[in-house]
Amino acid sequence: MSVIRCSAVCGLLLVSAAQAEPVTPLPQLEAYTVPEAWLQPMAPLQIADNVWQIGTDELTSLLLKTREGAILIDGGMPQSAEHLLANMKAVGVAPQTLKWILVSHGHGDHAGSLAAIKQATGARLVANAETAMLMADGGANDIHFGDDILYPPVRVDRQIQDGEQVSLGNLTLTGHFIPGHTPGSMAWTWQSTRDGETVDIAYVDSLTAPGYQLVDNPRYPHIVEDFTATFKTVKGLSCDLLLTPHPGASGWDYTDATQSTRIDCVDYAKKAEQTLREQRKAQQAD
Ligand SMILES: [Zn+2]
Repeated sequence: MSVIRCSAVCGLLLVSAAQAEPVTPLPQLEAYTVPEAWLQPMAPLQIADNVWQIGTDELTSLLLKTREGAILIDGGMPQSAEHLLANMKAVGVAPQTLKWILVSHGHGDHAGSLAAIKQATGARLVANAETAMLMADGGANDIHFGDDILYPPVRVDRQIQDGEQVSLGNLTLTGHFIPGHTPGSMAWTWQSTRDGETVDIAYVDSLTAPGYQLVDNPRYPHIVEDFTATFKTVKGLSCDLLLTPHPGASGWDYTDATQSTRIDCVDYAKKAEQTLREQRKAQQAD
């Protein structure tokens, strides 16, 4: 064996590369993948007189039109930006007339395209402090997912508190903190019209805990207490029409709205409560 002796100062032994055992290359980077329906572009679907779903078959991105410009809530996956901008134009919203971007929570399947949308439109991004931090880090160091679902980081322009309102033209939205799925999870409520009647719309974040450690989680010790308070909040929302970031969670089928079996906020919270209870019980039994 040929050994190269280092200088006396470093004292290291280096084995000749020619003699070393073959070493396999380091692994390739692997981007995360999602169900294809999350990436399936759809034509704009009118939900109410001034509300359009412009995202993909199974990820919600809502466009709210007013006389003073438009508001976008959620942007879907990072690769959705061009599709959203095209759908905005299709319903008569020029990029520079998008004024506010709101968000349900800062995971890559809802906040992934917001850096690109913000750059293309100049709209101002609104979120609470928890979600602002997660989005500034591009989803890195997530409590439950670590660095598994990264996306282009984006800076929040206006940080809001629980119950704070965002207004544009004749439209006012109220933000509600509903921590659980993420510490910064939010619901947005506003009034619209549909079929000549006033309708209270609630866009309520995911209430799921996919693979989450619910018992003794050192990164989120009060996760169950947060969920419990959130279920109460959601049950109390004004909610003639419920929409969710993942449409199936509230019974929506955007590919054929006549097939939708929509549920209200109370049932949405009750279902989630039951699922979380069972999930927690299973973890306590382990
Ligand atoms: Zn999520």
